[in-house]
Amino acid sequence: MFIQMHSEKFMRFPEGRTKALTFSYDDGTASDKRLIEIFGRYALKGTFNLNSLLFSEECRDWHGRMDEDETYETFADAPHEIALHGARHIFLDRVSLPEAVNEIVQNRVWLENKFNRIVRGMAYPYRAYGGEIREAVKFAGAVYARTTDSTHSFALPGDWLELNPTCHHGDSRLFELADRFLSARPERELKERDPMLFYVWGHSYEFDGNGNWDLIENFAKRMSGRKDIWYATNIQIYDYVRAYKSLVFSIDGERTFNPSALPVWIEIRGRVYRIDGGKTVIFEKP
Ligand SMILES: [Zn+2]
Repeated sequence: MFIQMHSEKFMRFPEGRTKALTFSYDDGTASDKRLIEIFGRYALKGTFNLNSLLFSEECRDWHGRMDEDETYETFADAPHEIALHGARHIFLDRVSLPEAVNEIVQNRVWLENKFNRIVRGMAYPYRAYGGEIREAVKFAGAVYARTTDSTHSFALPGDWLELNPTCHHGDSRLFELADRFLSARPERELKERDPMLFYVWGHSYEFDGNGNWDLIENFAKRMSGRKDIWYATNIQIYDYVRAYKSLVFSIDGERTFNPSALPVWIEIRGRVYRIDGGKTVIFEKP
């Protein structure tokens, strides 16, 4: 095993874990209930991206969207994040910028009031993002926004407002990626020592349409119960990374202060340290 000798530092997830797994599911359809049940069985966490003006009877034909009450009952007590997906699921690049802003703001106002919580995440409806839309998302106060562009990578997002997922659940490489993710040991590597994020997205109604609920069931089972994986919602990961990035270091890199309210974990010279909010830690000398 390679022992890190020098002062390079690596973010570790809560309790020193090297990996995180998260999910992102769109549109708020009735099949989300079955997906939530599967996530619950395997203690997985994710984010559900919801519209807020598509509750009429006609919208039921649109992949089984739920009405207002059903939406509330499905997500109010679920241990998952709810996030923005536009009020009406329109192409945000096919309306004026003020209308795009209104789509996101109305969506956020509704979700926050209905669910009595702060909503800061988003998934872009369709594939429209970038340019002015990015500004609209930012001004509406979203801190991250997911695209549908697969990276097939486990790197942490470089740009949270164009957050690219690892892959869609229907990707032919899903289980190959799962094997790679599960067998990786960043803490034993010389160069590939960075923390890893596996980010899967999709629509739960696709499992009904394709008759393949076993796919997500098998994936959930395979990924669950691992000591080195943090199972978290999108916003939990965002907040954690932000807290880690707020760490303040002395010039020699041997002392760090955590100005945030969250405890964060850091690895240096093969040792993992927990740094509580408001505390300073001096790393052990080599
Ligand atoms: Zn959608």
